[in-house]
Amino acid sequence: MKVIVDFDLCASNAVCMGIAPEIFEVRDDGYLYILNENPGPELEQKLREAVNGCPTGAISIGE
Ligand code: SF4
Repeated sequence: MKVIVDFDLCASNAVCMGIAPEIFEVRDDGYLYILNENPGPELEQKLREAVNGCPTGAISIGE
């Protein structure tokens, strides 16, 4: 799985970090960082929850 974030849509509200801190981190500089761009299957559930939970629809999943 590849994590794709549209940074133009991201509002840096850290909802994704709350769901999947292994993948997403909003730092003190106010920007979102992707910690793991190619998470394994053990993180699929959390990644899908983050996709669904992101209030701006900024996250998608690639191949
Ligand atoms: S939940 Fe969406 S808008 Fe919020 S920090 Fe994550 S990607 Fe950005």
